[in-house]
Amino acid sequence: MNRETTYNFNAGPSALPTVVLERAQQQLLNFEESGMSIMEMSHRGKVYEAVHNAAIERMRKLYNIPSDYEVLFLQGGASLQFSMIPMNFLAEGEKAGYIMTGSWSEKAIKEAKMVGATYEVASTKDNHYKNIPTTFNVEEGTRYVHMTSNNTIFGTQFKTTPDINVPLIADMSSDIMSKPIDVTKFAMIYAGAQKNLGPSGVTVAIIRKDFLATAKTENPTVLQYATHVKNNSLYHTPPTFGIYMLGEVLKWIEEQGGLEAVNQQNEMKAALIYDVIDGSEGFYTGHADKDSRSLMNITFRVADEALEQQFLTEAAEAGFVGLNGHRSVGGCRASAYNAVPVAACQALADFMKAFMAKHK
Ligand code: PMP
Repeated sequence: MNRETTYNFNAGPSALPTVVLERAQQQLLNFEESGMSIMEMSHRGKVYEAVHNAAIERMRKLYNIPSDYEVLFLQGGASLQFSMIPMNFLAEGEKAGYIMTGSWSEKAIKEAKMVGATYEVASTKDNHYKNIPTTFNVEEGTRYVHMTSNNTIFGTQFKTTPDINVPLIADMSSDIMSKPIDVTKFAMIYAGAQKNLGPSGVTVAIIRKDFLATAKTENPTVLQYATHVKNNSLYHTPPTFGIYMLGEVLKWIEEQGGLEAVNQQNEMKAALIYDVIDGSEGFYTGHADKDSRSLMNITFRVADEALEQQFLTEAAEAGFVGLNGHRSVGGCRASAYNAVPVAACQALADFMKAFMAKHK
């Protein structure tokens, strides 16, 4: 296999822009005339520090993050945030609300339950997580509400931010930096980097300062957000290579024309595939309700199970990678994150049409 003939639809870790990988390759052995790679130098030195701060600045600029928000680079993936959030923000006698839209929401509430009281603000579980809820039942005295902006496994995505009068925390792991958002609607945003931002190993957190100020202080040092704020995310050794790559991916987003442009591309890419599903008269069926469809993860089934297996096998032979649905739900899933080219989505749409013509 080679890169040119491989269509990478992996759900995460996933495709990175080729030009970013090429630049990293060029810079690998001798980063900015330092005589070594970025991975081989101190995280306390000037060279790395500049890379670190530039990545934070790029996050701020692209998302229009106001100065009353902190931008942090953490470790432990989005999964550690499932725990850190209640550990920092859910105290004895308080309760947190969770919007249940899929497996990742379930994992998030499970961790919060170990720390304190929780309840479901809304849930679409009874509808097999095919849609995003539109009504939210926020109880008085709620400490925060947690949502998953894009549901990687079921292929649904919030189209608008819920209008909720308590601090809103969003897991944006699978749609961060895929479109412009109004950061000020959130008390906190977090995401693992490995889909839209770079390699795995970095977790981004954007947190409003007044919300941060309400955090508990009795947690172990590395599990307190305050520690990372105080130390500009350099309290302990950060994943330096991952942060460098994240900065390069953000630079690439700027070169694409910013988040508006990237969003337009994402809409076009997803439409290529959804149009085939919609025009297939039931040969392909989408999992998500139309108004809740994700632009990032396109989930669908093929008419019958034997044919679905054949579809996945033939697709793999044709160079399409990562089209199997998540092991917990089966079916097919095409993840079309920022770095997946339009040409790859066009190729998949063409392949789906050709497969249908042969087997319908
Ligand atoms: N939340 C969402 C929406 C995800 O898609 C994922 C991973 N695919 C996670 C959380 C877990 O992320 P991590 O593996 O970084 O812990």
